[in-house]
Amino acid sequence: MPVKDERKTPPDDAGNGSSGGFGGLSIDFSGDAGLAPMEALPVPATPQAPIAADDGRTSTKLLVIGSGPAGLTAAIYGARANLEPIVLAGSAPGGQLMITSDVENYPGFPDGIQGPDLMAKFREQAQRFGSRIVDVDIDKVDFSARPFRVWARGVEYTGEAVVIATGASALWLGIESETRLRGRGVSACATCDGFFFRDREIAVVGGGDTAFEEATFLTRFATKVHMLHRRDAFRASKIMVDRAKANPKIEIHRNTAVEEVLGDTRVEGLRLRDTESGEVRDVDMDGLFIAIGYRPNTDAFRDWLDIDPGGYLVVRDETRSKIDGVFIAGDVHDHRYRQAVTAAADGCKAAIDAERWLESQGITEVATSTAW
Ligand code: NAP
Repeated sequence: MPVKDERKTPPDDAGNGSSGGFGGLSIDFSGDAGLAPMEALPVPATPQAPIAADDGRTSTKLLVIGSGPAGLTAAIYGARANLEPIVLAGSAPGGQLMITSDVENYPGFPDGIQGPDLMAKFREQAQRFGSRIVDVDIDKVDFSARPFRVWARGVEYTGEAVVIATGASALWLGIESETRLRGRGVSACATCDGFFFRDREIAVVGGGDTAFEEATFLTRFATKVHMLHRRDAFRASKIMVDRAKANPKIEIHRNTAVEEVLGDTRVEGLRLRDTESGEVRDVDMDGLFIAIGYRPNTDAFRDWLDIDPGGYLVVRDETRSKIDGVFIAGDVHDHRYRQAVTAAADGCKAAIDAERWLESQGITEVATSTAW
């Protein structure tokens, strides 16, 4: 890494080297995102089959909260079982795959597929069978009685059964300079922001699969990608580490922590600490990608459901929660596998369990009300 000295001209929004920000394309997974990824990402869905018009329903047999692989698979299965699902998809719909570049391990795509493309297909399939998808964040829930009630942007939605599939959000380092320079060279989304770092020197923090995947992807744009990991050993799978080691554009720095992101209005460098010797040094850097894992999105459910010490919802008997009729699927409870394919399988199981539970309760009809 270059030791910090004279300043290079930082890139503008087009990555051309002048003043200006790094653009606002990052998807903020904190839940208060500005841009919807379907607009923000370069691969919009192109429906191949007719999709039903939004019918404005707010009451349903199956309410699905979340729109990653788990939520949309629950919607597909629920719709095909005539549960007429409503999916409260979040303001940044699509989940973590929306910030994943090449998905090479999802079965059925031997040549791989881009994460946003895959999620567009999930969404299209859910809509094709009559799911209503609303891109809103939920504000609160009331699971005290059936039908279960969920509020989002002032509208009350009710479901005779609920599938929670809210996934997990990207973690941040939590230092002031990282927050201040977010969108100005600090990002948690290589897919969204990598383009802005063409011919630049950048760093990725983390030692898991996400960090290695992001670093490898970013070599398409950057001249050099420095991987910064606080320990000596990696959590990432061997194949990902080997691939990075073989990439001449990637330099791996073990036992290295980020103390500060340097720069007033954009990233100009990093203050790094050697976690073994304690030595601190400043280096030039044009950008910083944070890839240190995820936090399950459980805030709305804290008063109603059990949460384990890691922050994940607790499931029993595969997909059940402690409240009959409320089911759980995907990364919001899964701290072991956390894969798109396991989340999708979970969504399938939750929808089937919900359908059987509704049948056991004798629920076949539901009163219909509509918004707007
Ligand atoms: P992860 O496996 O939990 O790794 C997080 C990494 O970030 C760890 O190396 C951790 O360091 C580091 N870290 C955490 N907090 C930090 C902090 N405050 N400062 C500095 N470093 C910090 O998370 P992940 O990489 O996002 O992967 C999550 C799951 O998704 C995994 O199961 C992974 O296999 C899966 N995944 C799979 C693929 C794929 O197959 N294509 C791609 C992406 C993710 P320590 O090691 O020191 O704790």
